[in-house]
Amino acid sequence: MRFDLMTLFPESCMAVLGESILGRAQERGILEIYCHQIRDYTLNKQKQVDDYPYGGGMGMVMFCQPIADCFKAVCAQVGHRPHLIYMSPQGRVLTQQRARELAQLPELCILCGHYEGVDERVLEELVDEQISIGDYVLTGGELPAMTLVDCVSRMIPGVLADQVCFTEESHFSSLLEYPQYTRPAVWEGREVPEILLSGHHANIAKWRREKSLERTLRLRPDMLEQADLSDQDREYLASLRSSGNTGS
Ligand code: SAM
Repeated sequence: MRFDLMTLFPESCMAVLGESILGRAQERGILEIYCHQIRDYTLNKQKQVDDYPYGGGMGMVMFCQPIADCFKAVCAQVGHRPHLIYMSPQGRVLTQQRARELAQLPELCILCGHYEGVDERVLEELVDEQISIGDYVLTGGELPAMTLVDCVSRMIPGVLADQVCFTEESHFSSLLEYPQYTRPAVWEGREVPEILLSGHHANIAKWRREKSLERTLRLRPDMLEQADLSDQDREYLASLRSSGNTGS
């Protein structure tokens, strides 16, 4: 999959996205990530990318022209027009489900705003979708864009060692993940649950499923409405509810 980020801070984005799992996926040719400097597309000598808002008020608003020309250049490089997302606190909040859908696309272009954001006409004319990473405001769209790239990328086949790495994780099936442990078996007097040391795969899978249900019921009961539950899961949840025991 190909990602093109349009930003005023391409080096910072490349530094982060070039590390670890995403860096290795790029080396293996599974991912292509390009960060474009919007400032390179300005037509003024000062390379100014923003100005005061019409009507007055605080902050600066990013110009339409450099963003539009940067996007034109991305379209030319990609060979057609990619889906364009603007990272914005006004967008739909990112979910695992939306990330899964976006991972089906061959490419994504992501616009990072800064200062007060971008001229509204860019949104009307160019942007296909606005995505927020949560109901709070950050200074720029770079961290949100990198969050989106990371979240989408790890669902692309080959990026993680195995599909199970993400299918069993929190949110994939509207359940939170079960607790995880590693060595040592006893730390500060706290023991790893015995069942995990038993080597009995069926029992371990059952324990994990139950812990996952318990946790979701305790921490995010709202998620259970969307979860794909078997009859056995429903019975287990009913027993937890009736005993008032929602686990640890
Ligand atoms: N004036 C804008 C508003 O009130 O909606 C906020 C602008 S914010 C200070 C600057 C940029 O940060 C935005 O253009 C956007 O790209 C990014 N941003 C801030 N918070 C975000 C969030 N929760 N999700 C996605 N992007 C965000």
